[in-house]
Amino acid sequence: MKTQVILRNLQWLGRHNPAFTPGSVQTAVAELLNPTSSILPYSAHLLIGRPTVAGSGRAYFNIEASKTKKVNFKLAMPTAEGTYPVYFDIFSNDQLLIDYRADEDVVIEAAAPPPVYTCPTCGAKFASGAELVSHIETAHPPTQLYRVTLIDGSTRIVNWEGLRALMVTGRVRSWEKV
Ligand SMILES: [Zn+2]
Repeated sequence: MKTQVILRNLQWLGRHNPAFTPGSVQTAVAELLNPTSSILPYSAHLLIGRPTVAGSGRAYFNIEASKTKKVNFKLAMPTAEGTYPVYFDIFSNDQLLIDYRADEDVVIEAAAPPPVYTCPTCGAKFASGAELVSHIETAHPPTQLYRVTLIDGSTRIVNWEGLRALMVTGRVRSWEKV
């Protein structure tokens, strides 16, 4: 039988390395050539795993004589971690023309967990550094005290908040930890 279609290329959109997170939606692009001298109707689907655990559904399209066409196949990845073979079937009038197995299997792996910001004092955990800083400032205010000598020669004992408040008034001559 004469060749009725040639698969020129099959690749994942925007990806060189087909590693995806579980259940993520991805698009593969197939570049197909109709090598015959007449326009032909085709259909194709992309299947993941054997037995199949994810698939694109059938896409229907025509390709003109001696022309190539890029066709997108969008599908949700398997939800279980693992390595899965990728199959691409091309039909014309329900006759299977190509049963192609992609060179690269798809790897499904969970994304790395987000960083956790742990309070060094009490062990409470936060999703961001800003939340941790806010927690430390309210739950564990600094206990260091300072003896402050003011411009007028008077002294007083204050904590960091007090020292900061005096500093901005410009009345501080010197200060030391006590
Ligand atoms: Zn804490």
